[in-house]
Amino acid sequence: MEKKIRVRFAPSPTGGLHLGGVRTALYNYLFARQHQGDFILRIEDTDQSRYIPGAEDYIYETLKWCGLEPDESPLKSGPFGPYRQSERKKIYREYAEKLVQAGRAYYAFDTTEELENMRSKYRTPENPSPQYDYRSRENMRNALSLSAGETGRLMAANTPHVIRIKIPEKETVHLQDMIRGDVSFDTSLLDDKVLLKADGMPTYHLAVVVDDHLMQITHAFRGEEWLPSAPVHVLIWRYLFGEDQMPRWAHFPLILKPDGNGKLSKRDGARLGIPIFAMDWKDPATGETITGFRENGFLPQAFVNMLAVLGWNDGTEQELYSIQELIAKFSIERVHKAGAKFNYEKAKWFNHEWIKKLTVAELFPYVKKAFEEKSLPVSDDQQLLAVIGLVRDRCSLITDFYTQGKFLFETPKQWDLNAIQPKWNEQKKAFFRDYIVQSGSLAEWRADNLETAFKELAAEKNIKAGELQLPLRIMLVGEKTGPPVFEISASLGRGETIKRIQNLLDALGVP
Ligand code: GLU
Repeated sequence: MEKKIRVRFAPSPTGGLHLGGVRTALYNYLFARQHQGDFILRIEDTDQSRYIPGAEDYIYETLKWCGLEPDESPLKSGPFGPYRQSERKKIYREYAEKLVQAGRAYYAFDTTEELENMRSKYRTPENPSPQYDYRSRENMRNALSLSAGETGRLMAANTPHVIRIKIPEKETVHLQDMIRGDVSFDTSLLDDKVLLKADGMPTYHLAVVVDDHLMQITHAFRGEEWLPSAPVHVLIWRYLFGEDQMPRWAHFPLILKPDGNGKLSKRDGARLGIPIFAMDWKDPATGETITGFRENGFLPQAFVNMLAVLGWNDGTEQELYSIQELIAKFSIERVHKAGAKFNYEKAKWFNHEWIKKLTVAELFPYVKKAFEEKSLPVSDDQQLLAVIGLVRDRCSLITDFYTQGKFLFETPKQWDLNAIQPKWNEQKKAFFRDYIVQSGSLAEWRADNLETAFKELAAEKNIKAGELQLPLRIMLVGEKTGPPVFEISASLGRGETIKRIQNLLDALGVP
């Protein structure tokens, strides 16, 4: 029987989730769903010094917002729990000790000071950051350089120690990557990574292998930034469980800065004024908030769609995909090797397209929330539904609905007078006075009727209708923006339209 496909998204709770992190979760999710497999969320929190309160909840909320709900997670237990590595602490030592017994790892007693001395002793211009490796290990305080008796004595005295992997001196380690094909690594460039720390916590390298094994992960997909660590993982697999037991690997390409120059970082977001996190992230240490796609007005459908095609395509020109289509069409083999440049304007295009794709009713909760966030609570849901239909084609972001549609709920208090005054005159003022009267008796308050009546009156008065429409817009909205002016008037209703025209006539006084 075929093994059930099991993939994992394994973030460390060290801050907000970057675009790249969410895309890794998404590709894992799509692959799992396509193969009726399991999608597991494992929290990799063994580096307690980097633990940030709130980051774990942020991960849950992001996955929820994107609709990428895990089948097993710290919140949804399953047969392979616990799913938070700090709660699995006692599992790992046994594996580290096994490696020691097999001669593949060793105890090391070096103090921070001794490590620093080693680095300064071996530092040369060619080798600016000397590693703990086959060159230096014999000169350090570890079970390889010390006698068995001395090691035994130090261990018996509970001397603080770590367990390091003994990386073979000169070997080529191969990894078959589903995207990159055969990737090889020269072990002489690797250092003897710590596997188990002095406090008994495993490092990521040990924990990732042990957990992928125990959780029966069949495919390990992650970001390209983990490729340099992959040979260490292959060796641990080889020594503990056998390379034939390894999950299949794939390393997803980086998401690059818009100009293609390096990895998109948190700082780029601030520098370019664009979101790079899924949702707002408030750094508890600094109090600084990094803005997210959600709060910038993105729909989760658009965010997910945009991320899916940032590094993958199905070989056609298609760009818009629902999650169901993505599940059907996604393939790891078609994920690109090269990094993908992030383009915020294109991201907004996806959102615009999704705004047009959803029904007014589907958009409603998002738009209502956006209005509430701007402290403009919507009292009349029917009116909001109408305004969504009216302005949706002009909106790229959910927040644009507020800018485009707030006129309906708010009588303008200020007007863009510069847009009117230069061409304002007694004749135009008279026109609007008459228009108020005419509006009072118009049979049906519909956009088309309003337009016809307005134009007829203009023709009667011998004024170009075009010259009157801008003043009318400023009267109704306060500014030059918004949907077609007669649509605005129709949705405002007769009383409110007349009131707003009168308000501006009063404000303008004698021309
Ligand atoms: N904990 C790693 C991270 O934070 C996961 C890498 C992996 O998936 O192996 O991205």
